[in-house]
Amino acid sequence: MTKLVFYGGVDEIGGNKILLEDKGTKVLFDFGQSFSFGQEYFTSWLGPRSVNGLGDYFEFGLIPRIRGLYAEDQLKGTDLAYCEPEVSAVFLSHGHFDHVAHICFVDQKIPMYLGAGTKLFMESMEATSSFCDYKTHNFQTFRTGKKIKVDGIEVEPVHVDHSIPAAYGFIIRTSDATIVYTGDFRLHGQRRDLSEDFLQKAKAANPDALVCEGTRMARKEKRRNVSEQQVKVRSAKIVSFTDKIVFATHYSRDMDRFRSFYDVAVKNNRQIVVSPKTAYLLSRLAEDAHLNLPNSLKDGNILVYYKRKKTGTYDDGDYYAWERPFIEKMATAEFVHANQHRLIMDLDFYQFAELIDIRPERGSPFIHSMSEPFSEEDIEDAVLHNWLEHFGLQFHQLHASGHLSREQIGDVVAKISAKKVFPVHTENARLFRQLCRNVEVPLREKEYDIQLSSCG
Ligand SMILES: [Zn+2]
Repeated sequence: MTKLVFYGGVDEIGGNKILLEDKGTKVLFDFGQSFSFGQEYFTSWLGPRSVNGLGDYFEFGLIPRIRGLYAEDQLKGTDLAYCEPEVSAVFLSHGHFDHVAHICFVDQKIPMYLGAGTKLFMESMEATSSFCDYKTHNFQTFRTGKKIKVDGIEVEPVHVDHSIPAAYGFIIRTSDATIVYTGDFRLHGQRRDLSEDFLQKAKAANPDALVCEGTRMARKEKRRNVSEQQVKVRSAKIVSFTDKIVFATHYSRDMDRFRSFYDVAVKNNRQIVVSPKTAYLLSRLAEDAHLNLPNSLKDGNILVYYKRKKTGTYDDGDYYAWERPFIEKMATAEFVHANQHRLIMDLDFYQFAELIDIRPERGSPFIHSMSEPFSEEDIEDAVLHNWLEHFGLQFHQLHASGHLSREQIGDVVAKISAKKVFPVHTENARLFRQLCRNVEVPLREKEYDIQLSSCG
């Protein structure tokens, strides 16, 4: 009998941890950290101690106690005894934190399957961030359509369009059931065709169960569904109407958004200035020709912004080894100031102090290409607007979500027409019932028998 257990992604956005079991073989899908993770106990500088492994997490029941999953050293400070792996494989849908963060606790003897591009993303994150360490694993990369056998379970990853390249959904065939897991995806990106491929295959599989993301499920759609194409067209308009510098802030790993601003820059005879982190990521992603992204090391349209560090004189030795390969493409604050009319610059909130050195002309556009703040009392948002006002920058909100809209969720669920639908990655699983029948709102750690649920 095929069973599903939801250890995460239940009543929360992200943190998916989905265990599938068939004839004694256990396979995990995603092992991430939700956005609201641990917020009752931890805040800013009060965090779990890494020296205590899983101990601080088990203390508050924040991570599930699954036998035969965790690494021996991570279990040291806990009362859960180490044993040889009882989970046969972990599959990762994409490289976002809320799907992969907790693999650092997983026993490295367990094979970890992920997209070839996802592996590049994760390596890049580790190389450029001092607090990101996924630990060593037996990584096995896949591409779309490859069928992977884990004992009697067959897993087929199929590409989808999401706000990070190399994102996948899965079609899983066990001894007695077919299950589709969407991962995170959307239908309004530049690569809608990828998601359409997935939907077609998912429908053809005639699944017994659909595990579907519901990030944007809400009683009423509060935000307009802006497409990636609209973001591009509107930002092109902003850029073509100004002779000043244009600043843009977006999620650093959203390469579709980078591509949109890159295209707009090239079309308007401007260069795009990115951070060393983005430059490094682009140089790594260039290793995967399928992703078709410009190589920051070679592409003349890309410049790299170096902040003053240590000596304050832009000396090579002031920068990390991973930052140095782009030094020939260096844009300093002085350079940016002198060339404002021919640049688009990525500037994220945490780099705002650079504005003091850049001294942009008043009236320069600032495109906030990220989600709007969830609360009206958002402190960072207030600080952001104070800075914009101080420098006389003109604010534009322009963002396309990485997730299906409420309406699209309804269409997707209807199209796949699985016998049972399990909403995950949502705080509003119950609302799926307004869109379709056969919804099973998953409870955390409850075992769901797929054959039984499909019959009754
Ligand atoms: Zn997610």
